[in-house]
Amino acid sequence: MNLGQMPGGRRGGLRLWVLLAFAAYGAYYWYSNRSIDPLTGQAVVIDKGISPEQEKALGLQAYQEVLRQEQPLPAEAQASRQVEAIAERLIARIPPVSDALAAEHGLQASHVERGFDWAVTVLQSDQVNAFCLPGGKIAVYTGLLPVAGNADALAVVLGHEIAHALLRHGAQRMTRAKLEQLGQLAGAASGMDQGTLQTVMAAYGYGSALPYARSQETQADELGLMLAAAACFDPREAVPLWERMEQGTQDRAPPEFASTHPSAGTRIQQLQALMPKALEYRARFCGDAGGAGARAG
Ligand SMILES: [Zn+2]
Repeated sequence: MNLGQMPGGRRGGLRLWVLLAFAAYGAYYWYSNRSIDPLTGQAVVIDKGISPEQEKALGLQAYQEVLRQEQPLPAEAQASRQVEAIAERLIARIPPVSDALAAEHGLQASHVERGFDWAVTVLQSDQVNAFCLPGGKIAVYTGLLPVAGNADALAVVLGHEIAHALLRHGAQRMTRAKLEQLGQLAGAASGMDQGTLQTVMAAYGYGSALPYARSQETQADELGLMLAAAACFDPREAVPLWERMEQGTQDRAPPEFASTHPSAGTRIQQLQALMPKALEYRARFCGDAGGAGARAG
């Protein structure tokens, strides 16, 4: 009985070739789908097979599902109108802020928002949460409203959520999942045990989902803060907001925008470092509140 023993010799050689073939394909996949995001200046890997239209369709499907399961407030309700007004001001500033950020990186903005069909719904729920799905479907839970406390802080949260959609973070996660599946397939095809496989994958940076998600949060914080500032909200409200958020969600499941961050302290430090830039954006784009005068470049 040696069925369970590690096969060596020729089997080992074959295993190596299988792994090399998968690794070559993985590297090809990685580099052929790699690009620089004009809004962050950072490298991103998004499967070219995942189009913004596809993402938008998925976003719409998910939104309809959420609206079926939750209790949406009527559009005429005061909270609905307030949230919608904040979202509209942020959305109006996406084109000039995108152009300005892209120009800072010597690039041109791709303006994915042009294909979005925006919608804003307030959901009656104690959850301290909000989201923006690909394609521009926004939801805010009523539980977030008392924690946000004011329009400026709510604009910071909504800006953060909108930023995830603009940066195509969903498509990046789908691409990541595809690569991880490829890695698992390679491991299975070569007969490698799971422990060895994980060590190998970790060596190439796979499976490091947490830091990756953290960098997405940091990117969304920055873009969201610039949007809020450019839309004439006070970006300085971001700091007390995260302090309240930490206090207000201690005994509950962490909301999307708090779940993957290392700590509120680190986040607040990062936001404070961004504040001079945010105030500069406010001065530059908020000359006439909500007007058409502010243009990039
Ligand atoms: Zn987030």
